[in-house]
Amino acid sequence: MNTGVRSTDRIALLPVEEHQRRQRRADSTCPQLWDALDSVKDPEIPVISIWELGVLQDVELREGAVIVTITPTYSGCPAMGVMAEDVVIALREAGYSNTEVVTRLAPAWSTSWIMDEAQEALREYGIAPPGRSCAGEHAEICCPQCGSSNVHSVSEFGSTACKALYKCDDCSEPFDRFKPI
Ligand SMILES: [Zn+2]
Repeated sequence: MNTGVRSTDRIALLPVEEHQRRQRRADSTCPQLWDALDSVKDPEIPVISIWELGVLQDVELREGAVIVTITPTYSGCPAMGVMAEDVVIALREAGYSNTEVVTRLAPAWSTSWIMDEAQEALREYGIAPPGRSCAGEHAEICCPQCGSSNVHSVSEFGSTACKALYKCDDCSEPFDRFKPI
């Protein structure tokens, strides 16, 4: 399982909160619990786990209880309640029936916490990632279908409030872009 820690060069470029988050997993005394939670995906984007999304902050084992700390993405994102339920279910399936999910609001989640693998998975899923989505171009947003930078914004709100709707002027396909925050 990927623990997210690969090279110190890469880590140095990460936001400090994201560096610390990866360190908590790398140093954890209960790695099996983190691994069990890799099965919990964002219900809106089923190709990305809550770990890759930067939502899963900490997992601790205290007197037989599992304490899971998560930081919501966008405030009011309805997916968060589902994620918390899925955390409880995943740990129950791993043999831990006593789970408490704690929500940590500060520091606020940022799209810069989304891991590189997940940015790529987003693109393959048909959603333009929040970072630069163009390969070898100066443009910021490119069509996830054909890679063209010839795109225009249709609406600030796409299929969910977390995403904006764009349309590609080359392949004519509409697509969502994960809004950077
Ligand atoms: Zn296109």
